[in-house]
Amino acid sequence: MEKRNLIGLLPSDIYSWLETEGEPSFRAQQIFQWIYEKKADSFDKMSNLPLTLREKLDGTFSLGSSRVEEVQKSKDGTVKFLIRFPPQGTVETVLIPHLDHRTLCLSTQVGCPVGCTFCATGLAGFRRNLTYQEIVEEVWVVEKEMGVVANNLVFMGMGEPLLNYENVHRALQVINSPEGFRKGARRITVSTVGIPDKIVKWGRDWPEVNLAWSMHAPRDELRSWLIPINKVYSLEQVLGAIKEYLAITHRRVTVEYTLWQEINDSKEDAQEVAKLLKNLLVHVNLIPGNLVSYSTFSPSSPERVKAFASVLEERGIKVTIRKRRGQDIQAACGELYRIYS
Ligand code: SAH
Ligand code: SF4
Repeated sequence: MEKRNLIGLLPSDIYSWLETEGEPSFRAQQIFQWIYEKKADSFDKMSNLPLTLREKLDGTFSLGSSRVEEVQKSKDGTVKFLIRFPPQGTVETVLIPHLDHRTLCLSTQVGCPVGCTFCATGLAGFRRNLTYQEIVEEVWVVEKEMGVVANNLVFMGMGEPLLNYENVHRALQVINSPEGFRKGARRITVSTVGIPDKIVKWGRDWPEVNLAWSMHAPRDELRSWLIPINKVYSLEQVLGAIKEYLAITHRRVTVEYTLWQEINDSKEDAQEVAKLLKNLLVHVNLIPGNLVSYSTFSPSSPERVKAFASVLEERGIKVTIRKRRGQDIQAACGELYRIYS
């Protein structure tokens, strides 16, 4: 019988397994601690568990299913992991240190079905959804390999999280739980291209998790060109969902806007963005575009980025400009693309 992966398994599944084995439930706490705190990679190491239980665990479960195929380090400290999940599928996960913080950028799909014209992940196509256990294992593997604890998690790697809703939801149950990684919801951000019904559902399920929405254009025609799924979910529909989300959560939404020279970065574009976002509890994060192969767009010049920011600020909108990280190892936004079968 094939062994089941213990990493990322829902706590309730571990409790039921212990019960069917006639083991006391307090063993679960010890197991959680060995997995998520100490990152034990063998059952032998779980020294406070009785030998019989360790043997039973070893006969039933594996500790992790992935293989780290490559680790690349940037000169700015960013580290990119290429992680293979059997039977097929590889994703990239990026650790971004900044002062005493460590942000982990997680992938949710092998590739992405949305196909944004400026994103290497989208241009490479879609293979499959990651399972919730695989998403949890991204955190486990990186923390184990690097001997660190990530204090911010961002779902901004490969894939569209809200198109893999159930798995991202379950992964967060483990990541956020005191019986899992214990990562606070307010330290977690999910970035979505904008799937209206899922945004509202997310607000109900995870009101404390930060939401980032990839806007990138103030008009449907332009946005549909950049983000094909806009033909299905128009700006009006997504903005309607954001308003509903805000009514549920009362939490500030980050609006991500990638800037491309003379494509979506004029002052008029900025004015239109300001108009659409007027009176909404949002903050705009401008992302200077990162050049990817197969895309013909050029990143906006620093002057145009600043001018765009000024128009928004003049209209009372909070703006930040995202710093590029890990560019020398293709680990910056939109550059994750390695998909091996
Ligand atoms: N699918 C989700 C999350 C992953 S992408 C989403 O689209 O929101 C994370 C962010 O990187 C998004 O805001 C996305 O638009 C941005 N991005 C994608 N390609 C980029 C590129 N080439 N340069 C800069 N940002 C990019
Ligand atoms: Fe997918 Fe996000 Fe890339 Fe668009 S930007 S293709 S939604 S990962």
